[in-house]
Amino acid sequence: MLPKDSHTWVPLTPQGKREPVPIIQKAEGEFIFTSEGKAYLDGIASWWTMIHGHRHPKLMAALVDQTKKLDHVMLGGLLHEEGEELSKLLLQKLDNQFAKVYFSDNGSNSVEIALKVSVHSWALRKRPTKTSFVIFSTSYHGDSLGAMNVSGSNVFNSPYNALRFPVEECIAPNCHACPWKKKPKNCSLECLEQVEDILKSKAENIAGILIEPLVFGAFGMIFYESKVLKGLRKLADKYEVYLIFDEVFTGMGRLGEFTAAQKAEVNPDLICLAKGLTGGVLALAVTLVKESIYRDFVGEDLHQAFFHAHTMTGNPLACRLGIESIRLWEEQISITQKEHPLAKELERLRDSLISWESSQKISHLRSQGGILAFEISGTDIAEDEYLLEEGRKFCRNLWDKGLFLRPLGNTIYLTPPNITSSKSFEIVSKALGESLKELQI
Ligand SMILES: *Cc1c(COP(=O)(O)O)cnc(C)c1O
Repeated sequence: MLPKDSHTWVPLTPQGKREPVPIIQKAEGEFIFTSEGKAYLDGIASWWTMIHGHRHPKLMAALVDQTKKLDHVMLGGLLHEEGEELSKLLLQKLDNQFAKVYFSDNGSNSVEIALKVSVHSWALRKRPTKTSFVIFSTSYHGDSLGAMNVSGSNVFNSPYNALRFPVEECIAPNCHACPWKKKPKNCSLECLEQVEDILKSKAENIAGILIEPLVFGAFGMIFYESKVLKGLRKLADKYEVYLIFDEVFTGMGRLGEFTAAQKAEVNPDLICLAKGLTGGVLALAVTLVKESIYRDFVGEDLHQAFFHAHTMTGNPLACRLGIESIRLWEEQISITQKEHPLAKELERLRDSLISWESSQKISHLRSQGGILAFEISGTDIAEDEYLLEEGRKFCRNLWDKGLFLRPLGNTIYLTPPNITSSKSFEIVSKALGESLKELQI
């Protein structure tokens, strides 16, 4: 537990309430171990990054090997072999739909780069009024000012409303609890009507549509169907705005295919990847840009250069880990044939929890690829749901049973490391079963 006189301001943790904060001393595979010797299964893979498990031998060996060659060098005006190799590999993994890879060091930055490239590209095309974005109510794109600005409005960003620039926020699709009360089978994409209305009247002020494809992650693991993305692609083409996919969560195989874009068979104009990229070991992010947009920046005029770099952008150690992480993922996925390695295990777990849904302790039980989620106490996803206590209490009870989860309000979800064993799933299943039994609602 965090000592009373701790020197660290722990993020996302109320400072007044004395909530337990375990101190983690070591980690291995799907487990993290506290300084008091307690083991927790890392059920959300340390914010979705640790896809190969902690301290994967191949990643650790690659890191040590890389330290013998090159630690860091700035990417401004210089390039290194690891960065170039990773870029080439990423372009290949995305079926050569993109022309270039722009490095940064976290998901928020990768989104901000996509926004700036979009606005800049339209300016270079002599359409300087195209500066706003269509965004979705349940989206999350990061905590820096720009990324926060294009995220859905919620209790986390409302204190900073004065700092926000105008965007066009649409009600987000949700195929498990459709805001238009439709089922995916019989809907006519009502969720896109508002998008089209906005584009119809304001396309000359809009640079792009930004969305997390197939799953809104941080807002509550909200799933929706590929046809929404296909519809967005058509609208983006019709009204001449870019389509940007933030795959910081869904990329690196979260849904089975390398990206959600490939799963949905929709080609965005820009795509952002981060979280799972280095297997969670070091900070790295990328923004991939299509040829037609990149071409706007090719020329001798300094106004055509893209001025955005972070000091540690494209760190060679991180790039080397990125290459190894993709290789590892390729090995796994060739065995499962494009299915997420845990999809079956999570489906089984979902089926074993159905009785709790019938008894109405939980609702919207769902799984897809490497994600399982449900809401407790039948709550719907609503803005101030994050402030309710049930999810936190429920998860603390799970910790006692050896499973570390962190709720998204009342949404409880699992995204365990891909290497999580069947034996470890018994811990998960037992902990969830017991905690649901004990849950008073
Ligand atoms: C986590 C996340 C981000 C922000 O990434 P950071 O590395 O935390 O800045 C952006 N978009 C999505 C979809 C995310 O899940």
